Amino acid sequence: MKQAVLRAPGSFELVDVPVPEIGPDDLLVRVAACGVCASELDMFTGHTDRDFPILPGHEVSGVVERVGSAVTRQRPGDRVGIWVTESGFSEYVRVHTDFALPADDMPLELALAEPVACAVNVVEIADVGLGDDVVIVGAGFMGALVLKLVLLKGPRRVFVADARAEALERARSIGATRTIDVRAESLVDVVRANTDRVPAGTFGDVDEEDEVGADVSFEVTGVQGPLADVGDATRMAGTVVIVGYHQGGTREIPLGNWNWKALRVVNAHFREVATIMRGMRTGMRLLTSGRLEIGDLVTHRFGLDEVGDAFQIAVDKPAGFLKATVVIGED
Ligand SMILES: [Zn+2]
Repeated sequence: MKQAVLRAPGSFELVDVPVPEIGPDDLLVRVAACGVCASELDMFTGHTDRDFPILPGHEVSGVVERVGSAVTRQRPGDRVGIWVTESGFSEYVRVHTDFALPADDMPLELALAEPVACAVNVVEIADVGLGDDVVIVGAGFMGALVLKLVLLKGPRRVFVADARAEALERARSIGATRTIDVRAESLVDVVRANTDRVPAGTFGDVDEEDEVGADVSFEVTGVQGPLADVGDATRMAGTVVIVGYHQGGTREIPLGNWNWKALRVVNAHFREVATIMRGMRTGMRLLTSGRLEIGDLVTHRFGLDEVGDAFQIAVDKPAGFLKATVVIGED
């Protein structure tokens, strides 16, 4: 079978390797599509400590080709969204039966189980409530996905901030109440002017400006800039969720201010398998039922022999880019 191997930074090679053997609890899945994840771009650009070659690809969907002798949950022919840790840019992958969930009849290239699981967990742990005011800083793929999930929770107002006009336009079309172009407006000023003070006596003697702001704010950029402001856009005792991928270098946050305002700070990067799978189950339910529609978020498609191009466009992020996926087999 064909498999894309990242030999060196910027250099994918398509190699012929044996189809994986499966154990009694495994499935052999014929890969339909594998998304390119922002967290893999540092391997492609060489900003990684890992040794090459690397086999990236963990956002996989496909069709069950064969099942191990102890597998009872899936049968050959089942369409599934799966979680693997690597080598998704291949014609076949092996996966444990527990890490595959039904994709029913949804388009497999949109059965992005892993990133949707991540966004579901972000929104669940943030505990967005009915009628909440919400801020989302960053309207790329993950920001737009978080926006769609937040809207399912029934918020009052959702403010989306970004520095790209087309990203803000898309956020508006998805359902953002108010978009904020941070090149022209202050996130903090707009949010403070459009949220109410918490009821008198809730916090005793605090500044009026700390009583206004979002109930929940999501930072989805992964860069330093918004970390200075996102706490000020959040009300006293509100929640700040760090969704962005803040790897490489250190970051500064105004901790004294966050501390004074008793903000609940949530680091929403999940590593535990049980949490990932819980989010994946919820995410696949939302996708297969049509409650969550992400057809507008997958903007670029490539073939297996074009994996390098898929990564390059994800690095370059031209106007209109949100998510690249590599379409590998017949659906
Ligand atoms: Zn991912």
